[in-house]
Amino acid sequence: MISAQRIRVTGVVQGVGFRPFVWRLARDLRLSGWVRNDAGGVDILAEGDAADLGCLGQRLRREAPPLARIDGIAVVDVAAAGLRDFVIAASGGGKVATAIGHDTGVCGECLAELFDAGNRRWRHAFITCTHCGPRYTVTRRLPYDRPQTSLAPFPLCPECAREYAAPADRRFHAETTCCPHCGPHLELLDADGAPVAGDAIAAALALLNAGAIVAVKGLGGFHLACDARQPAAVARLRLRKAREEKPFAVMAANVASAAALVDIDGAERERLASSERPIVLLQKRAGADAALPGIAPGLAWLGVVLPYTPIQWLLFHEAAGRPQGTAWLDQPQDLLLVMTSANPGGEPLVIDNVEARQRLAGIADAFLRHDREIVVRCDDSVVRSAAGGFQAIRRARAFTPRAIRLTRAGPGVLALGGWYKNTVCVTRGLEAFVSQHIGDLDNAATCGFLEEAVAHLLQILDVEPAVVAHDLHPDFHSTRLAARIAAARDIPLIGVQHHHAHIAAVLAEHRAEEAALGLALDGVGLGTDGGAWGGELLRVDGAACRRLGHLPLLPLPGGDRAAREPWRMAAAALHLLGRGEEIATRFADQPGAATIAKMLAQRVNCPPTSSAGRWFDAAAGLLGVRPVMAFEGQAAMLLEGLASAHGAAAPLPGPSCVGGDGTPDLLPLLAAMADAADVGAAAAQFHATLARLLAQWVIEAAEREMIRTVALGGGCFLNRILAADLREKLQHAGLTVLEAREVPPNDGGLALGQAWIAQRSI
Ligand SMILES: [Zn+2]
Ligand SMILES: [Zn+2]
Repeated sequence: MISAQRIRVTGVVQGVGFRPFVWRLARDLRLSGWVRNDAGGVDILAEGDAADLGCLGQRLRREAPPLARIDGIAVVDVAAAGLRDFVIAASGGGKVATAIGHDTGVCGECLAELFDAGNRRWRHAFITCTHCGPRYTVTRRLPYDRPQTSLAPFPLCPECAREYAAPADRRFHAETTCCPHCGPHLELLDADGAPVAGDAIAAALALLNAGAIVAVKGLGGFHLACDARQPAAVARLRLRKAREEKPFAVMAANVASAAALVDIDGAERERLASSERPIVLLQKRAGADAALPGIAPGLAWLGVVLPYTPIQWLLFHEAAGRPQGTAWLDQPQDLLLVMTSANPGGEPLVIDNVEARQRLAGIADAFLRHDREIVVRCDDSVVRSAAGGFQAIRRARAFTPRAIRLTRAGPGVLALGGWYKNTVCVTRGLEAFVSQHIGDLDNAATCGFLEEAVAHLLQILDVEPAVVAHDLHPDFHSTRLAARIAAARDIPLIGVQHHHAHIAAVLAEHRAEEAALGLALDGVGLGTDGGAWGGELLRVDGAACRRLGHLPLLPLPGGDRAAREPWRMAAAALHLLGRGEEIATRFADQPGAATIAKMLAQRVNCPPTSSAGRWFDAAAGLLGVRPVMAFEGQAAMLLEGLASAHGAAAPLPGPSCVGGDGTPDLLPLLAAMADAADVGAAAAQFHATLARLLAQWVIEAAEREMIRTVALGGGCFLNRILAADLREKLQHAGLTVLEAREVPPNDGGLALGQAWIAQRSI
């Protein structure tokens, strides 16, 4: 008895070798019919014995290809048509509902070919197959077929075409496949744009070895690379990138090559080697800073990433002496490369060849580039281990456009995020798509990238938003863009309070529907009362949010500037401690210290803030860690580095509340910082005391509100010492603690929270 079924598979099922997989299964089960891609995912018609059809459904799930993620399999019985064969049919059309594959590091099989001198793709800088390679960053629109990608200008040669058409081949329907005959062309240009003679990889490595800075075209943009072991090269890179003090990540050939510098546990090892290839922040070992001067000085951790493009692999292969085979992949290699985003001046990552020549002029000594266009700009993702898994710190390459599963469907929402580390979010049914990291909206180019990202996401997801959400701050470019989009489309606009959004983002990813307490510890966000919030205890019940309390207010002497100058926050703390007379002498090396003391005394230009970040800054300023910051959060990161190097410390004893509601009194803690002799011990004591006071505050509020769930959100939770200590204390008190994992706790998660709240507001 012949039966027939129409089977629809949804999820990440395109560009991952799903059709050939179905084809092989169908052959194996002696089924006839066809499989094809369409906008909704993969569409299958299968005819055959009923038992074999049942097997097909089970095996689709069980044996799916490594990069596939199946969200649903819907089966409908249909009339059998008496088909004879099983074929892969041309793609259908329809409304786009499928997910797009993510960019993936070179797979093991491709690596074996890449380093096999007998293979026709030996040292081919664009090797890829259905299991690996570029996806999102080369895709203009769906369905995912070669003409829709930036491989379109490279017609397949006969040999590649044969592989592409052979269902049993690993490159069957590999849309980005190519070879040295038909693929893009790799070249090395000097600083003036003149081609450098000889082998591009060998010449680029020679330049790196000589201390040069080489711009290397990657998956989602250019990197600036230099030899991480040459302090002069690293210093030159910092100098040329201008004002650049942010830590650099290093690329190592494998885990063994980084093991002398950082501690790597099993889970971290796995994450480093995962197909997503994120930068993983790892705890430094003693001597790491001495071995790599200028890479991430004073910080507790070092970002490490393993090669993921063939070009990166080839540089390491060259440095290893071009070995035949893959045995060298497990052996420690000397070469360590700085691989930093080529984003001069904090502007978006450079993706285009012409743009690279212009924007990297004076920075790069040479350009290792090719003519495969980068369609979507995407920085490297950054993660680190945290309780229960990994936490995203910057979510970009390989993690976008992966959906966060929501608990409720609704009309499409577009949420535009905040200002710092901006991302946007689009919902489609039960899915929320958070864009790649866009950046700080402090320059026209990044604002342009924001608009580009919105347009691309709406187009590739085929979503018509029914509502636009934004931050309450009227001056953010994201807020203004939201108003413009809402007006153009004639749809409602919803303003969402910053810290409500932080907590909602955590609730969204944990699919929490119950009322929860939210502890939002952050730099700054506009409050519903027009104040500068940032240390908030909230009660969040869907779209409703009540401010239960906040950290004590600190004056910001000189306004926003105080957020970049921890010594000013230290001055504010001294003022509150009644020790204002110390300001002028303590900070005599800072211009205007006496004026700041006067401003504080007279309460002139000293707007108050409840920001937790400023309490960290005040402590760092009092300890002399960093009087003026080079980038947002730097003082707190250095404070964490000191505490981490010192090890655990006992919290300051004593009563600790102001008012009757458990609000932590942080002034005695700052008094201790002001008089500390040992900076490391004081930094550790600051963390331990803060965690104790915050835990007490939250636990008392949880009892009062009769709530057992608490969500932790805001950029301060990137501080691993604080997050871990607080979590443990809250869990010990029987509370369920939800933390940011898939989406960063900082402002990179705001858009998701805004979308979640907007869904519940309409
Ligand atoms: Zn591959
Ligand atoms: Zn070819």
